[in-house]
Amino acid sequence: MTIDPHDGLLAIDTHVDIPWPDGPSPFTDGPRCVDLPKLKAGRVAAVCFAAYIPQGPRDAAGNLAAHERACQMLDAIAAMAPRDNSGGVLTTTADAIEAAFAKGRPGIIPAIENGYALGRDLGALDAFAARGVRYITLTHNGHNDLADAAIPRRDLDDAETEHGGLSELGRAAIQRMNALGILVDVSHAAKSTMLQAAELSRTPVVATHSCMRTLCDHPRNLDDFQLDTLRDTGGLVQITAMPPFLRARGRSDTVGVSDFVDHIDYVVRRIGIAHCGISSDFDGGGAITGWRHAGESGNMTAELVRRGYGNEDIAALWGGNFLRLMRKAEEYARK
Ligand SMILES: [Zn+2]
Repeated sequence: MTIDPHDGLLAIDTHVDIPWPDGPSPFTDGPRCVDLPKLKAGRVAAVCFAAYIPQGPRDAAGNLAAHERACQMLDAIAAMAPRDNSGGVLTTTADAIEAAFAKGRPGIIPAIENGYALGRDLGALDAFAARGVRYITLTHNGHNDLADAAIPRRDLDDAETEHGGLSELGRAAIQRMNALGILVDVSHAAKSTMLQAAELSRTPVVATHSCMRTLCDHPRNLDDFQLDTLRDTGGLVQITAMPPFLRARGRSDTVGVSDFVDHIDYVVRRIGIAHCGISSDFDGGGAITGWRHAGESGNMTAELVRRGYGNEDIAALWGGNFLRLMRKAEEYARK
């Protein structure tokens, strides 16, 4: 009898979008890449569900709408963990993720994609932390009041750079996020933003869904200098299943798990296995051959085994490294 290496693995997918506003139920096996039955089938222990806020106008009305949308999306994320134990468990600490895993219950980790959700109000961070938000992606596509993005919005932005990386408000936001135990997500951020955030943050930053620029020259990907900075600051990059980030002009039918693990291999060789992990960006555009939905997550593990990764390495990639970063953020917040 062979032992399935995906069995007993605490697998965390660090970036998934949610059904919104009236998407299919997350409780039944439906058309989405991620729902609770598929998480069970794919033996995915926990997922960071992102309240995704597209960048819009940065005036009072725009900021208010962004904040309200974030709050409603966080409500929808929390609703995946109903009190009657019929769904997932809201897991907002590393210990809670491990406890839910031990009980065989999917962990739901709330996150926010785009610091636009707080407008210019740092107090919103405290409210988000109280709702269990564990990371905030500083920007989406388009600059915001916190920072420059890797990809400006032509309809909103006049220039490639607006703040030269982080704004003063962005720096203050990172300090407050550190104090609250919220991880700083540098995916989508401009290179300048990312490097400044990695230096400034008192706990390691994470790119929750990005790939390698040396292998695929896409502006959303991280270059070697950024990788070395992650290594030097204890940070983490979670390779993601977005076809055009994995291979130039890639599509879900032309890019597969082997391409994905090429990017993992690259990170591991350059900066070490402690600085790499796995995310799907499912229901936000991510999906590749062999990993089209959460139910197929065992295929990723099988490819890692085929490449020679051992059980400890696979556990680190699939969740151990991310849990370590969560714990560092929690420890810092407690001090
Ligand atoms: Zn994204």
